[in-house]
Amino acid sequence: MKSAFVPRLVNSPFGDPGLYVSERWRGRALLFDLGRIDRTPAGELLKLTHVFVSHTHIDHFIGFDHLLRLFLAREAHLQIFGPPGIIANVLGKLAGYTWNLVDGYGFVLSVHEVGLEGGIRSVRLPATTAFRPAEQGERPFTGVLVEEPNFSVHAAVLDHRIPCLGFAIREERHLNVRPEELVALGVPAGRWLAVFKDAVRAGAPDDTAVVAEWRENGTDRQRSFRLAELRARLLVETPGQAIAYVTDVIFSRDNAARIAELARDVDVFYCESLFVDEDREQASLRYHMTARQAGTLARLARAKRLEVFHFSPRYEGDAERLRAEAAATFAGEIPEDRPD
Ligand SMILES: [Zn+2]
Ligand SMILES: [Zn+2]
Repeated sequence: MKSAFVPRLVNSPFGDPGLYVSERWRGRALLFDLGRIDRTPAGELLKLTHVFVSHTHIDHFIGFDHLLRLFLAREAHLQIFGPPGIIANVLGKLAGYTWNLVDGYGFVLSVHEVGLEGGIRSVRLPATTAFRPAEQGERPFTGVLVEEPNFSVHAAVLDHRIPCLGFAIREERHLNVRPEELVALGVPAGRWLAVFKDAVRAGAPDDTAVVAEWRENGTDRQRSFRLAELRARLLVETPGQAIAYVTDVIFSRDNAARIAELARDVDVFYCESLFVDEDREQASLRYHMTARQAGTLARLARAKRLEVFHFSPRYEGDAERLRAEAAATFAGEIPEDRPD
């Protein structure tokens, strides 16, 4: 079965960090970090509905203007999530331009700021009012940023000498229909199957009636089933896909614990590795990690695959060294030097 999400880094591991995740069946996409994105085709960027910014160091946020320019004349709603200060950062960017001729545009930007007090504050910035912020209130932050019927996006507040967000996207479990059983039942597939799966996902009681409806030779037909029987006979459950994205963090006990929880059992763990382990003092001084530390975290999280990125330019031409170091640790025993 094909996976629902297709992730790829937007630049080389020596370029600005950024992970583009397209939703295979829905023609839309999510972006983690907003550094240089000008090598990504406009058609792909215009599929974005949600952008998640880890922090606003320039290599993670310089792409904002590029994205804004692409979206400006579109009827679209773009949502940006970020750490403390993201609303002021976006307003500061917008204040750098003149907006007297955009009142006919349908574009709306929403910005959601994860605060330090455990809340998410949201503002809405419509082009029609020259992006004047309209406060949308605050809701509690419980680790979840986005909750959609088929997936959720989670965040952890990490330490980069400033708060920096790590992210994970988790698909809901897959519910697949056994086609041969459907044939044996003698009812055709249809919209009723989606309604049935939604009921199963929502935990509807076993004796809920599921009504299959279809049209046959010009007549409307229907047949009713008991949910529990249909579930047992028709459905195969598989766990959903999960991807974590963590960058710009120091290898500390607190960060490691939060990252291991955030990235628990993910299919792919995208993790920064600015340095090789030989330069780990540099890494700590700059609140970054080494490839070996990324490998350790991937093991602690029990990730299935590790992809390292955000390499320091000092290793240009030697990407394999960082990849090999991360892979060796990931495949080996958890090293003695766990964070403290
Ligand atoms: Zn960075
Ligand atoms: Zn940074």
